[in-house]
Amino acid sequence: VFEYVTRAPDIPVYAVMVAYREDPSPFKLNLGIGVYRTEEGKPLLLNVVRKAEKLLVNELSANKEYLPITGLAEFNKLSAKLIFGADSSAILENRVTTVHCLSGSGSLRIGAEFLAKHYHQRIVYMSQPTYANHPNFFVAAGITVKTYRYYDPTTCGLDFQGMLEDLGAASSGAIVLLQTCGHNPTGVDPNLEQWEQIRKLMRLKGLLPFFDCAYQGFVSASLDADAQPVRMFVADGGECLTALSYSKIMGLYAERVGALSIVCKTADVASRVESQLKLIIRPMYSNPPIHGASIVTAILKDREMYGEWITELKAMTDRITSMRQQLYNALQDRAIPGDWSHITKQVGMFSLTGLNAEQVAFLTKEYHIYMSSDGRINLAGLSAKTVPYLADAIHAAVTL
Ligand code: PLP
Repeated sequence: VFEYVTRAPDIPVYAVMVAYREDPSPFKLNLGIGVYRTEEGKPLLLNVVRKAEKLLVNELSANKEYLPITGLAEFNKLSAKLIFGADSSAILENRVTTVHCLSGSGSLRIGAEFLAKHYHQRIVYMSQPTYANHPNFFVAAGITVKTYRYYDPTTCGLDFQGMLEDLGAASSGAIVLLQTCGHNPTGVDPNLEQWEQIRKLMRLKGLLPFFDCAYQGFVSASLDADAQPVRMFVADGGECLTALSYSKIMGLYAERVGALSIVCKTADVASRVESQLKLIIRPMYSNPPIHGASIVTAILKDREMYGEWITELKAMTDRITSMRQQLYNALQDRAIPGDWSHITKQVGMFSLTGLNAEQVAFLTKEYHIYMSSDGRINLAGLSAKTVPYLADAIHAAVTL
């Protein structure tokens, strides 16, 4: 009965990963997949996560009973505080509902499904370009995906005017997907004055903000500073949605831990919204797993462990920033044609280098350097040792 199933295309980022794995070259370098690596090129398990797991051993093995549909209640409270701030009026007024979901992806998917069922406008606008999986979450829910201009390839920076024009022309009431900080794949974020203009325009047009927060703390190492765009929208009393991920910021990728929050106008609406979220989650996976959320909860609620987490988060952020500077310096040293200042102006884990698909193919074929064909690199995949190699390769690619 399944003979007629056609083969689906490979998912590009995984195809890059497989090609890298199968390359026997000792010089191969993977800048494709978006995970943090140490200076030695190894995955990083945070010490504070290890510590929390040790503390939790007895608690977690005491029983393996189901969590509620909305997940671990304490985790939800702490996640809301992390993103909206401890003194958020929306939290104090019980206008926020937060549900524990399967990481950022699960939060986006549940949010999209909720909007498809309960929101009047089934159109979402997302930045051009955006994280490759973004359209899928909404298309799967039956929401039409449109784009707004965001990245200017001539400056490798923000096309702010284009963004405002496109949001200004958007269908009224449409959903707008925004990345809170450390934009994937561009590394380009609006500044706070620009955010304020975006906020004003969106509120004027009744556009609904849906924030993807996968990199809170990965830009400035301050969780409060990085959450500022969200908090500006919450402070005006209007609605918004947030999808928070702990994959990158606590290195909990495979634990699949995240939270969807929906900020409403009143506590009564928030509790009705939560009741509908339960109806969406129940037939999908019934309730979320406990392990990752217990680790996050243990860290967020304990002052000392929270402090240790921030220190480790800062170490990751500092290493990424240093990679940016080292790469920029190496490109300058080689007097490579073009302006490479965007490498240090962009923020977060990624940089859209400006290399085109042909140059990327050259880097892979001749230098065994892997990245997505749009020229996005993960700076955390670099080290002091590999930066000169990459710079030599870029030199060769752009002077072909
Ligand atoms: N959003 C953005 C912008 C991302 O870059 C990613 C992962 O790379 C995600 C969401 C989803 O990650 P996860 O499902 O692991 O939280």
